[in-house]
Amino acid sequence: MELVVKGRVVVPDGTLENGWVAISGGRIAAVGTGKAPSAARIDDRGNALILPGAVDGQTHATSYKGLPGIADTTRSAIAGGVTTLVDMPYDNPEPLDRPERLDAKVAAIAAHSHADMALYGTATRETGTANLAALIEGGVVAFKISSFESNPVRFPRIAEDLTLDLMESLASTRIPLGLHNEDQEIVMARIAQAKAAGRNGIVAHAQARPEAAELAATGQFLALGLASGAHVHPVHLTTEAGFRLTGAVAGLGAAATGELCVHYLWLDAARDGDRLGARMKVNPPIRSAAIDGLWQSITDDLVAFVSSDHSSWPIDNKLTDSIFDAGAGVPGLETLFPAFFTAAEARGFDAARLSAEYLAERPARFFGIDDRKGAIAVGRDADLVALEQGSFVWDEAASHDGLNWSPFHGETFTVRVAASWLRGQLVWDGKDILNSPGSGQFVPRATAGWYATEKD
Ligand SMILES: [Zn+2]
Repeated sequence: MELVVKGRVVVPDGTLENGWVAISGGRIAAVGTGKAPSAARIDDRGNALILPGAVDGQTHATSYKGLPGIADTTRSAIAGGVTTLVDMPYDNPEPLDRPERLDAKVAAIAAHSHADMALYGTATRETGTANLAALIEGGVVAFKISSFESNPVRFPRIAEDLTLDLMESLASTRIPLGLHNEDQEIVMARIAQAKAAGRNGIVAHAQARPEAAELAATGQFLALGLASGAHVHPVHLTTEAGFRLTGAVAGLGAAATGELCVHYLWLDAARDGDRLGARMKVNPPIRSAAIDGLWQSITDDLVAFVSSDHSSWPIDNKLTDSIFDAGAGVPGLETLFPAFFTAAEARGFDAARLSAEYLAERPARFFGIDDRKGAIAVGRDADLVALEQGSFVWDEAASHDGLNWSPFHGETFTVRVAASWLRGQLVWDGKDILNSPGSGQFVPRATAGWYATEKD
């Protein structure tokens, strides 16, 4: 064996005290407890928990710096124990809606990435359904569209007619179609009302994008999914009602799943809004008194997986006079593991198990990359993270994304990411990034994915 990593190893059916993971050729060759096989190197992490590296199902690596932004974003990823990112298609300056842009992004991963990356594709009004097959052939793991126009070129609104066309084309593939789920007309009207009334703070932001706008867009999308048979997936539901709606439509026979982002489990508009302002501006917004219902949604198995929705916006983009001019989205790759683990532990869950499941196993299966990613199991890539338990105050200045701000600044976490391994290589030692840009690989969709593995 090249390497044996020792610690409390979190495998799909439990935690192996005094466990070990043996690695050969960058893959997991054996897993066990007690006496480990001999190896060229032994890395004994003592009491640390050894989990699968996270598969962060929602990141925006390129929104600010374009494709070269992959370098900073993926440094932050491996420092956060995220060994695979699933990056959104809203690249700056143009979205990933055609094969040549997929080729360019795959080349950018080979040039810049510190972590492995899977990719979403999209469709625009210009390309319609024309490029879906070529993008699938190229290995995209999912598609995403938006019912709200964030940007006319990079992040356009897709209306219901094209949405239905896309679903009909995708139905037989079982490849998920994700949705940014907010209703255009409701949000535009409410923003205009807020501006006219001179309201421009974080509360006005949340009021201008009410739960009704989210549920309306979600419901319409789910209805089209039910009718078409496509796998439909709102990429961020902010309340229990959204998850119950998705679960209800799934109960009617739709291939419907919903995703949760970790900041909705941690932040509360009424409690944190004054303190954080635009630092917690995300779309759909963080609401008040939603957290209990979101945990109930996890308990009731209504949440497919949890992601960071990491956005690579510098703080200048946030510190505007009006909230409506501030960029939406927050950095989150380095706080995903610690925040989810800490919050799950506080709720009385087996936090190690829940983290392995919601941050790694489920997203890997969802995106059809569980041949290689998502679990500590023989044959998978040796993507591991060591979590040291204790009390750790998060300092935004210490982050590795080149942004150095965080809505989690000053929060106390019960774990820290003490090490990350990517395909058997130590890439983060708790202090430094140890691999070079271009060490990361493109991860194409390879397995049948969520519905096939759930139901067959
Ligand atoms: Zn997002």
